[in-house]
Amino acid sequence: MSRSEQLFERAKAVLPGGVNSPVRAFRAVGGTPFFVATAAGARLTDVDGRIYLDYVCSWGPLILGHAHPAVLEAIRAAADRGWSYGAPCEAEVDLAEQVRRRMPAVEMVRFVNSGTEATMAAVRLARAATGRSLILKFEGCYHGHADGFLVKAGSGVATLGLPDSPGVPAALAELTVTLPFNDGDAVERLFQRRGAELAAVIVEPYVGNAGFIAPEPGFHAALRAHCDRFGALLIFDEVMTGFRVAAGGAQERLGVRPDLTTLGKIVGGGMPVGAYGGRVDLMRRVAPEGPVYQAGTLAGNPVAMAAGLATLRETERPGFYEALERRTARLVAGIGDAARRHGVPVTAGHAGSLWGLYFAPGPVRNFAQAKGSDTALFARWHRAALARGVFLAPSAFEAGFVSSAHTDADIDVTIAQLDEGLGEALAR
Ligand SMILES: *Cc1c(COP(=O)(O)O)cnc(C)c1O
Repeated sequence: MSRSEQLFERAKAVLPGGVNSPVRAFRAVGGTPFFVATAAGARLTDVDGRIYLDYVCSWGPLILGHAHPAVLEAIRAAADRGWSYGAPCEAEVDLAEQVRRRMPAVEMVRFVNSGTEATMAAVRLARAATGRSLILKFEGCYHGHADGFLVKAGSGVATLGLPDSPGVPAALAELTVTLPFNDGDAVERLFQRRGAELAAVIVEPYVGNAGFIAPEPGFHAALRAHCDRFGALLIFDEVMTGFRVAAGGAQERLGVRPDLTTLGKIVGGGMPVGAYGGRVDLMRRVAPEGPVYQAGTLAGNPVAMAAGLATLRETERPGFYEALERRTARLVAGIGDAARRHGVPVTAGHAGSLWGLYFAPGPVRNFAQAKGSDTALFARWHRAALARGVFLAPSAFEAGFVSSAHTDADIDVTIAQLDEGLGEALAR
């Protein structure tokens, strides 16, 4: 047994499924997850000494790759000054100002500890501000694990949400309507029927939690217009896309201004940070300035703020996002070409350094189409890639990430290994 296998056996006795977040268990692709010993730059080393080129990047936060020297230094310097105060510190103000500079729609921000917390709080605020309860979300979008988001579409015209996990009360699920992403007509019909009940529309502007799905031109602008017309708030969940698809996130790339924005991942540079923010008139409703309660013992943690700040500062270098996007485009094109050479139908895309691929002829514009892709081939390909030292997200329905630590040479090696891996996956 490898060290990873031994650790996984021990883990399964004390952690549900052996992990602290489900997809890490590799259930969708089979096999045993590797346990990480160290990580640096674009590479992970597992406890058996195997090295992997990492396209998961901690599921998004590590846009600079692992253990970037500037971030490491900032974390060390902050820790030297103590790591939790329970009182305000300067880094919170610095990071808030940095976020507002990068995303002008985030006029005021509140830091929390995870993306899940950010979306929960944003919805509470939207409900408080509108005096309404109903939320609209889209199939395949993930907004963290709060009850109100673990909801699937009801059948037919009922559009009453149904619990998507045991433990979610039906009464709560009914307050969430779920529609297919990119379906402007369905959105229009819902607003016509129930627009006056809607507190908010929450959306991943580029879907990164169902693989990668780009919005069709005008989809978000239409959401914006419907919200304005019916007095609902538009929440962009930019936990994944924020500071990833552009310096100012998806809202900059798409040119659509949300009322509220939720952040996580990159904003904490790999430390547990989330944030929600937006229009100042809305944010002034948050306690203690207003009555909408929300608090956090470790929120605004000085070490976490330092990691987020140092990460964002590095991304401000001229050409940072352009270089990342170029490299990501090269990777996606290379994998697509390889798949076509093997005669495999493939649909691949990216926005900035967020990318994804489906073994499907395409187009893939919503979750139902994503689910029609060849997930069994993906699973075999994933295993073949891993054996060749390339770590892809262990599910056909997760996006990939490229960091600034991935060099052109890394990308070329990756394409070659994935090409070979696909050959092996097809031969099985
Ligand atoms: C990761 C993610 C979340 C949840 O963030 P956690 O920090 O895992 O709680 C919410 N929304 C989106 C779009 C995400 O990608």
